[in-house]
Amino acid sequence: MSDSGVVVRFAPSPTGSLHIGGARTALYNWLYARHTGGKMLLRIEDTDLERSTPENVQIILDGLRWLGIDWDAPPVHQSQRVGHYRPLIQRLLDEGKAYRCVCSKEELDAKREAAIADKRKYLYDRTCRDRNLGPDCGPHTIRIKLPLDGEIAFRDVILGPISMQVSEFDDWIIARSDLTPVYNFVVVADDHDMGVTHVIRGNDHLNNTPKQLIAYEALGFTPPEFAHMPLTHGADGKKLSKRHGAASVTDFAKLGYLPQAVRNYLVRLGWSHGDQELFTDGELIALFDIHDCNASPGIMDLQKLEWINQQKMMSLPPSSVAAEWLPYLRERGYEVEPGAWLDRLVEVCRERFKTLVEMADHVRYFFAEPESYDDKAAKKWLAAPNAELIELLATRIENIAAFTEPALEEMYAKICEERGVGLGQVAQPVRVALTGNTVSPPIFDTIVLLGREKTVTRLRKAAAFASSSG
Ligand code: GLU
Repeated sequence: MSDSGVVVRFAPSPTGSLHIGGARTALYNWLYARHTGGKMLLRIEDTDLERSTPENVQIILDGLRWLGIDWDAPPVHQSQRVGHYRPLIQRLLDEGKAYRCVCSKEELDAKREAAIADKRKYLYDRTCRDRNLGPDCGPHTIRIKLPLDGEIAFRDVILGPISMQVSEFDDWIIARSDLTPVYNFVVVADDHDMGVTHVIRGNDHLNNTPKQLIAYEALGFTPPEFAHMPLTHGADGKKLSKRHGAASVTDFAKLGYLPQAVRNYLVRLGWSHGDQELFTDGELIALFDIHDCNASPGIMDLQKLEWINQQKMMSLPPSSVAAEWLPYLRERGYEVEPGAWLDRLVEVCRERFKTLVEMADHVRYFFAEPESYDDKAAKKWLAAPNAELIELLATRIENIAAFTEPALEEMYAKICEERGVGLGQVAQPVRVALTGNTVSPPIFDTIVLLGREKTVTRLRKAAAFASSSG
């Protein structure tokens, strides 16, 4: 797609982990950029120096990468842009669109309290608006001059037409007494400098938008389009938090969800395309449009995420699942490299598990000998009368010419025939010998994946166990 001129940005405040709601905001921005052939930018809003940490920035960037989100320029750090704001504030002062205010905190607090006591909404009474105070007026803040009446109206891409009376706002402070600019001013300056055409963000920022529009107007900048996304709630209707089991991208990764599944799930939480539930990444990029998002809050439904995850585990190429699974295996101390063996392991295991964690927890026996046999399984299948059969299987497998699934199947069939028993009678003792239990992927796949040597060693050990048991 050709460059559409669309520029979006994700602007996290690095005061904590990447919340799933923030991740959805990032994803919607990214998809819209990719859908339109526009640009995706990142702005780290790290002006709260006490709560913003480089570790949190790293967690957020890692979380975005994990989700498959990339960006088209190095992230902008707001803390490094302090010098950009002063000239803009000065310009507003010079043009009479902003003014110095020397009202003290105590005076303002007293007026606020009086308003509260009268049950009135507190708005600054514009005491300093027409005083033309100069730079040497003493300690002061800088306030923006609002029109005295009229309407602030805009059409939100998701929420539709929004309008508010100017009289609901006061001449808000754009620079504090230490002359640092406030958040709502900085955002306008940054979005303008970065050429942002669409601000896609959580609707917890909806109240900031009229103020920001006033700043756009005063600065003579064309405002972007705004799209305010409903927040993500837990099933109890409250804002999603750790209390709901998982709230950050890191939490979801820890639970063993595929990024492809989380992505699919998050996009569907507020956007739909007919009744289609599962989308490839290509489909999401082709179909997603911010204009089609809906305005009701997304309710987190872990069962649905689990279902999507299982569908993705089954439908993605085994190597893609393996690439995501590898860290979970290594975390458990399993020495494993990417490649055909691991891909095959995914292929034979995946249908039985809902998450990467469940699948990693199950496959221990591919990496280490079972420490013990499940009691019930051993009583049934590794009892003394089976010792000879297990030993025979060890010898046949040791000597089989082709160590492949079909050859093993043939060999098993032969043994069943010789002994007049069903496959289960011959497969289950082997399963217990190899895995410690009676559940595993199909037995021939398990044997081939484990390899001849380990299979034979484990069978001999199990035969010895069986002959020494009562
Ligand atoms: N830093 C803000 C936040 O994390 C986002 C501001 C914006 O998108 O305009 O909620």
